[in-house]
Amino acid sequence: MNTSFVTQLQSGLDDLKAKGTLKKLNYLSSPQSARVRMEGRGEVLILSSNNYLGLCDQPEVVDAGIKGLHDFGAGTASVRFICGTFTVHRALEQAIARFVGTAASMSYVSAWNANEGLTASIAEEGDFVISDALNHASIIDSIRLAKAMNKCTTGVYKHADLDDLVEKLKANAGARRRIIWTDGVFSMEGSTAKLPQILQIARDHDAIVVMDDSHATGVLGATGRGTAEHYGLVGEVDIITSTLGKALGGAAGGFVAGAAALCDTLTQKSRPQLFSNALPPTVAASALAAVEFVEAHPERVTTLRENAQYFRAAIKEAGFNPLDGDTPIVPIIVGDTADAIRMSELLLDEGIFVTGFGFPVVPVGTARLRCQISAAHTRDDLDYAVRAIKKVGLSAGVLK
Ligand SMILES: *Cc1c(COP(=O)(O)O)cnc(C)c1O
Repeated sequence: MNTSFVTQLQSGLDDLKAKGTLKKLNYLSSPQSARVRMEGRGEVLILSSNNYLGLCDQPEVVDAGIKGLHDFGAGTASVRFICGTFTVHRALEQAIARFVGTAASMSYVSAWNANEGLTASIAEEGDFVISDALNHASIIDSIRLAKAMNKCTTGVYKHADLDDLVEKLKANAGARRRIIWTDGVFSMEGSTAKLPQILQIARDHDAIVVMDDSHATGVLGATGRGTAEHYGLVGEVDIITSTLGKALGGAAGGFVAGAAALCDTLTQKSRPQLFSNALPPTVAASALAAVEFVEAHPERVTTLRENAQYFRAAIKEAGFNPLDGDTPIVPIIVGDTADAIRMSELLLDEGIFVTGFGFPVVPVGTARLRCQISAAHTRDDLDYAVRAIKKVGLSAGVLK
């Protein structure tokens, strides 16, 4: 046993604690919903979950998971290409493709895995991959892996700065293939990618667009089909990746959606597919039920959108300065990291769980309470939250 290794780890943790950035785990003992039981806290109202449509405890979704467990057993005990592909995977992948408007899709145990394997499967030496500066960590790592493994060249454009994107594409006009990676929704800002312009730029520069729609699937667009539907561009994005761990039931799992030849290529080349177990059939079954639920209940998406608009307006009315946007992510900018953390702690005493984010997750001076609204919230829940945030903002000196 190497005790000095453990001592080093402990001193790293002590440093984080001294800086006030040590993450603490909160244990829940009830399903994810508008209100949850949090160990040591009793019932709290959740404003930090990705359970956008309230499907985590939706009876149809839970029952489908139970039936999946009975029909297919506990797991796949194999990777996809050996003997880990079940009929429920096909049913799920067909439903996802139908939902997001592509020819095919391929499921993964997480969106992290879906993204991680993707870039190296489509980018080779001589290709150029370019990424928005605020893209999700899984995209950043995916591009790093592709660069290390396949020797493609890579670049980053300033967040949402399309002039910078064009400039970098022009500088790499000689590349064999140009790939633009963007989040559909940027999770710290609650903002939406400028998809119409990005698609036009891709056409002008013969590039491929890959969009990670994890915070948009089930959320944006009149029927929840995501960022493309929001802009009236369903069918126009070359590759869409997303999670099943947010709006679509919240369990786990992710996918890549696009042309059939793309998904067939992933079967051959994507390393998380080749060397790691397939999505558990129980989860595939509950995710399939979640997709079917959204298709049958677009009014749930409407409720989410109306709740988000209501909350955003009420927070402004209370005197705060939330970032604008069309998403149910409402970041309330408070400025100092210490204020964001203090407000988050005070809110927990009021029975509200909402995370404060500060530097280095967001730029200095833009620390924020990131509120995430769900269709599961009632207007009473939202009113209660706004009153409490106002009270705590006054006592923390953030509101004058
Ligand atoms: C949440 C998220 C992921 C990771 O999703 P998992 O399925 O939990 O791995 C990937 N990309 C984006 C943009 C996300 O918001």
